Amino acid sequence: MSKRKIVIEPDPILRKKSKTLEKVDDELRKLLDDMLETMYSAPGIGLAAVQVGILKRLIVIDISKEKDKKSPLFLINPEIVTKSKTTSIYEEGCLSLPGHFAEIERPAECNVKYIDYHGKKKEIKASGLLSTCIQHEVDHLNGVLFIDYLSKLKRDMIVKKLVKHKKELNKIVL
Ligand code: ZN
Repeated sequence: MSKRKIVIEPDPILRKKSKTLEKVDDELRKLLDDMLETMYSAPGIGLAAVQVGILKRLIVIDISKEKDKKSPLFLINPEIVTKSKTTSIYEEGCLSLPGHFAEIERPAECNVKYIDYHGKKKEIKASGLLSTCIQHEVDHLNGVLFIDYLSKLKRDMIVKKLVKHKKELNKIVL
Protein backbone atom coordinates (compact mmCIF):
# COMPACT_ATOMS: atom_id res chain seq x y z
CA MET A 1 0.00 0.00 0.00
CA SER A 2 1.11 3.53 -0.58
CA LYS A 3 -0.19 6.88 0.44
CA ARG A 4 -1.58 9.22 -2.22
CA LYS A 5 -1.77 13.00 -2.28
CA ILE A 6 -5.15 14.45 -1.33
CA VAL A 7 -6.64 17.06 -3.66
CA ILE A 8 -7.58 20.26 -1.82
CA GLU A 9 -10.42 22.59 -2.83
CA PRO A 10 -10.50 24.71 -4.95
CA ASP A 11 -9.53 22.28 -7.69
CA PRO A 12 -11.60 21.72 -10.86
CA ILE A 13 -11.30 17.92 -10.58
CA LEU A 14 -13.40 17.96 -7.39
CA ARG A 15 -16.29 19.29 -9.48
CA LYS A 16 -16.17 16.52 -12.08
CA LYS A 17 -18.40 13.47 -12.25
CA SER A 18 -16.60 10.17 -11.62
CA LYS A 19 -16.96 7.23 -14.01
CA THR A 20 -18.59 3.87 -13.38
CA LEU A 21 -16.22 0.90 -13.21
CA GLU A 22 -16.56 -2.10 -15.50
CA LYS A 23 -14.63 -4.69 -13.56
CA VAL A 24 -12.98 -5.39 -10.23
CA ASP A 25 -9.41 -6.59 -10.58
CA ASP A 26 -6.15 -6.52 -8.63
CA GLU A 27 -5.21 -3.13 -10.03
CA LEU A 28 -8.45 -1.70 -8.70
CA ARG A 29 -7.95 -3.41 -5.32
CA LYS A 30 -4.47 -1.86 -5.15
CA LEU A 31 -6.04 1.57 -5.63
CA LEU A 32 -8.63 0.82 -2.92
CA ASP A 33 -5.84 -0.24 -0.55
CA ASP A 34 -3.97 3.00 -1.30
CA MET A 35 -7.11 5.02 -0.68
CA LEU A 36 -7.64 3.29 2.65
CA GLU A 37 -4.07 3.97 3.76
CA THR A 38 -4.38 7.61 2.67
CA MET A 39 -7.64 7.95 4.62
CA TYR A 40 -6.27 6.31 7.78
CA SER A 41 -3.15 8.42 7.84
CA ALA A 42 -4.98 11.72 7.17
CA PRO A 43 -6.89 10.75 9.42
CA GLY A 44 -10.44 10.60 8.08
CA ILE A 45 -13.47 8.31 8.07
CA GLY A 46 -14.28 8.45 4.37
CA LEU A 47 -12.52 9.08 1.07
CA ALA A 48 -13.64 9.11 -2.57
CA ALA A 49 -11.23 8.30 -5.43
CA VAL A 50 -11.62 11.79 -6.90
CA GLN A 51 -9.98 13.12 -3.72
CA VAL A 52 -6.77 11.41 -4.79
CA GLY A 53 -7.27 12.69 -8.34
CA ILE A 54 -8.92 9.62 -9.87
CA LEU A 55 -12.35 10.01 -11.47
CA LYS A 56 -13.68 6.55 -10.67
CA ARG A 57 -16.77 5.68 -8.63
CA LEU A 58 -14.91 4.31 -5.60
CA ILE A 59 -15.32 5.04 -1.91
CA VAL A 60 -13.59 3.81 1.23
CA ILE A 61 -15.16 4.30 4.65
CA ASP A 62 -14.29 3.29 8.19
CA ILE A 63 -16.40 4.73 10.97
CA SER A 64 -15.14 2.35 13.68
CA LYS A 65 -13.98 4.28 16.71
CA GLU A 66 -11.45 1.83 18.12
CA LYS A 67 -8.08 2.23 16.49
CA ASP A 68 -7.03 -1.41 16.77
CA LYS A 69 -10.35 -2.77 15.50
CA LYS A 70 -10.53 -1.52 11.96
CA SER A 71 -13.56 -2.30 9.82
CA PRO A 72 -13.09 -0.80 6.38
CA LEU A 73 -15.93 -0.64 3.90
CA PHE A 74 -15.15 -0.54 0.18
CA LEU A 75 -17.90 0.65 -2.14
CA ILE A 76 -17.52 0.32 -5.90
CA ASN A 77 -20.16 2.02 -8.10
CA PRO A 78 -22.27 2.92 -5.04
CA GLU A 79 -25.83 3.90 -5.78
CA ILE A 80 -28.24 5.33 -3.22
CA VAL A 81 -31.53 3.63 -4.04
CA THR A 82 -33.75 5.05 -1.30
CA LYS A 83 -33.49 7.85 1.23
CA SER A 84 -35.60 8.31 4.36
CA LYS A 85 -37.83 11.33 4.85
CA THR A 86 -36.49 11.76 8.36
CA THR A 87 -33.28 13.71 8.54
CA SER A 88 -30.32 14.01 10.86
CA ILE A 89 -27.70 16.66 11.35
CA TYR A 90 -23.98 15.99 11.72
CA GLU A 91 -21.06 18.33 11.83
CA GLU A 92 -19.20 17.41 8.64
CA GLY A 93 -15.65 17.96 7.61
CA CYS A 94 -13.80 16.84 4.49
CA LEU A 95 -10.20 15.86 3.76
CA SER A 96 -10.37 18.15 0.70
CA LEU A 97 -11.44 21.11 2.86
CA PRO A 98 -8.97 20.87 5.74
CA GLY A 99 -9.91 22.78 8.88
CA HIS A 100 -13.50 23.54 7.89
CA PHE A 101 -16.63 22.07 9.43
CA ALA A 102 -20.35 22.72 9.17
CA GLU A 103 -23.59 21.20 10.35
CA ILE A 104 -25.32 19.53 7.39
CA GLU A 105 -28.81 18.07 7.33
CA ARG A 106 -29.27 14.88 5.30
CA PRO A 107 -31.69 11.94 5.13
CA ALA A 108 -31.17 9.92 8.32
CA GLU A 109 -31.25 6.55 6.53
CA CYS A 110 -30.44 5.35 3.06
CA ASN A 111 -30.27 2.09 1.15
CA VAL A 112 -27.14 1.67 -0.92
CA LYS A 113 -26.33 -0.79 -3.69
CA TYR A 114 -22.68 -1.33 -4.50
CA ILE A 115 -20.04 -3.83 -5.55
CA ASP A 116 -17.65 -4.94 -2.84
CA TYR A 117 -13.86 -5.50 -2.73
CA HIS A 118 -14.28 -9.00 -4.15
CA GLY A 119 -16.59 -7.95 -6.99
CA LYS A 120 -19.80 -9.12 -5.31
CA LYS A 121 -23.06 -7.18 -5.53
CA LYS A 122 -24.26 -5.94 -2.14
CA GLU A 123 -26.99 -3.81 -0.66
CA ILE A 124 -27.01 -2.27 2.81
CA LYS A 125 -29.31 -0.12 4.87
CA ALA A 126 -27.28 2.64 6.45
CA SER A 127 -28.29 4.85 9.34
CA GLY A 128 -26.65 7.32 11.70
CA LEU A 129 -23.11 8.40 10.94
CA LEU A 130 -22.70 5.74 8.23
CA SER A 131 -25.69 7.11 6.31
CA THR A 132 -24.27 10.65 6.41
CA CYS A 133 -20.81 9.42 5.48
CA ILE A 134 -22.03 7.43 2.46
CA GLN A 135 -24.10 10.39 1.22
CA HIS A 136 -21.13 12.75 1.65
CA GLU A 137 -18.86 10.41 -0.34
CA VAL A 138 -21.42 9.68 -3.09
CA ASP A 139 -21.75 13.47 -3.47
CA HIS A 140 -18.00 13.56 -4.22
CA LEU A 141 -18.56 11.11 -7.10
CA ASN A 142 -21.03 13.62 -8.54
CA GLY A 143 -18.78 16.66 -8.06
CA VAL A 144 -20.64 17.91 -4.99
CA LEU A 145 -18.98 19.12 -1.77
CA PHE A 146 -20.61 19.62 1.64
CA ILE A 147 -20.09 23.39 1.36
CA ASP A 148 -22.60 23.36 -1.51
CA TYR A 149 -25.33 22.96 1.13
CA LEU A 150 -24.27 26.22 2.80
CA SER A 151 -25.17 29.77 1.82
CA LYS A 152 -23.10 31.29 -0.99
CA LEU A 153 -21.59 33.75 1.49
CA LYS A 154 -20.39 31.00 3.85
CA ARG A 155 -19.15 28.86 0.95
CA ASP A 156 -17.19 31.73 -0.63
CA MET A 157 -15.62 32.52 2.73
CA ILE A 158 -14.38 28.94 3.18
CA VAL A 159 -13.04 28.73 -0.39
CA LYS A 160 -11.23 32.05 0.06
CA LYS A 161 -9.54 30.73 3.21
CA LEU A 162 -8.55 27.53 1.39
CA VAL A 163 -6.99 29.51 -1.47
CA LYS A 164 -4.87 31.34 1.10
CA HIS A 165 -4.03 28.05 2.84
CA LYS A 166 -2.92 26.50 -0.48
CA LYS A 167 -0.67 29.49 -1.22
CA GLU A 168 0.99 29.03 2.16
CA LEU A 169 1.55 25.34 1.44
CA ASN A 170 3.19 26.13 -1.88
CA LYS A 171 5.67 28.61 -0.46
CA ILE A 172 9.18 27.26 -0.49
CA VAL A 173 11.37 28.06 2.46
CA LEU A 174 15.11 27.90 1.70
ZN1 ZN B 1 -15.30 14.84 1.64
